[in-house]
Amino acid sequence: MCALVSNVYCVGRNYQLHAAELGNAVPEEPMIFLKPSHAVVPLDGSVLQLPLDRGSLHFEGELVIQAARDYEPGMSVDELVDTMALGIDFTLRDVQSVIKEKGHPWTAAKAFKSSAPLTASIAFPGTESLADTDFTVIKNGEEVQRGNVKDMIFSLQTIIDYIGKHYGLGKGDLIFTGTPAGVGPTVSGDVFELYWGDVRLGRCEIG
Ligand code: MG
Repeated sequence: MCALVSNVYCVGRNYQLHAAELGNAVPEEPMIFLKPSHAVVPLDGSVLQLPLDRGSLHFEGELVIQAARDYEPGMSVDELVDTMALGIDFTLRDVQSVIKEKGHPWTAAKAFKSSAPLTASIAFPGTESLADTDFTVIKNGEEVQRGNVKDMIFSLQTIIDYIGKHYGLGKGDLIFTGTPAGVGPTVSGDVFELYWGDVRLGRCEIG
């Protein structure tokens, strides 16, 4: 990944089965929220300090792409993206439930420090071959999530066009592209490993 991270965009409800597991309707257009760059920390085996005293804390494993240049209308994903990684969109689920009820912004539930840890990056294989490989989240040695871009509701192309048009998309910006089914709570001492196919890209322990 490019060292510079400016904006961190995230896509909500981009997999049908995940929307269903939380009882959410499938959106009609991409549902975008943001995290501050301070949320991004490396999944390099270190212990992650997360807010474990604010109700249920959920993990959401996601495929993450990074813009290698500034987006321009008509640009394809393959022109825009050189590298990708896996990340976890940590979410304070109880806080989010209250926020959703009150219609408040998602910041308190989604944008806290270290809420967007990121694995080492790999070369973007191109949109054609991306669906040949699943990504998985292993929690304490057991697979809890398995995702594949072919199951996304909104394609990467739709997502970059939408973000580029409405919010702007520049070099260094990250996009967390949504989580597949299997999200769940985490507690202190849990160990997460993120795999792209058979390759482990990152690991962390919850502090
Ligand atoms: Mg998410």
